[in-house]
Amino acid sequence: MTFTYNNIDYNIIIEKKKTNRNTYIRVNKDLDILVTTNYFTTDKAILKLVEDNKKKIIKMIDHQLIKNDNNEGFLYLGKKYDIVYVDYTDISFGESKVFLNKKLDIDKWYKAEAKVLFKERLDYWYNNFSRSIPYPSLRIRKMTSRWGVCNTKLKIVTLNLELIKRDIKYLDYVIVHELSHLIHANHSKNFWNLVEENIGDYKKYRKEMKEF
Ligand SMILES: [Zn+2]
Repeated sequence: MTFTYNNIDYNIIIEKKKTNRNTYIRVNKDLDILVTTNYFTTDKAILKLVEDNKKKIIKMIDHQLIKNDNNEGFLYLGKKYDIVYVDYTDISFGESKVFLNKKLDIDKWYKAEAKVLFKERLDYWYNNFSRSIPYPSLRIRKMTSRWGVCNTKLKIVTLNLELIKRDIKYLDYVIVHELSHLIHANHSKNFWNLVEENIGDYKKYRKEMKEF
């Protein structure tokens, strides 16, 4: 059985177990559609289920494709490196390759890099901002749905660790965005004018970031 999407046939793999009470559909790393169910469910019923959940399955495939794409290489400051595992070093960069030790905690490494770079860029924008603003403290963490957050009361700017994987211009845009919130807490016209005062091209970056 296959499922066709964008002219590609994806295998439907059925796993029947006595202990399965319900039927579940998921998409694995290899982009197979796994249906786990019990012995009472007929193939016909499974096909109908797949058909009924077409939209959900397409979403799952898209999700997995993005996930696989991110896993394919090593992203750092907007550049993608092919990973070569070695044991003589923790990490070192070649032109298009990164030599990585399997034991290296990559998130820890990203975080250490981000700590230095994000602070440097925050200081730069603080010193070159078009208006006078209070100096905020910086936090860095992994976030799934936002690139940055500004706590205007406590004057804390939180930046998404994932920015370390992207071109530095996006980091700059997010910093300017969050610093602008120290003057305008909302997303009013005045707020966007202030962002534009500091980064003329901000609309372009904003649009591009939506496509990540
Ligand atoms: Zn905002």
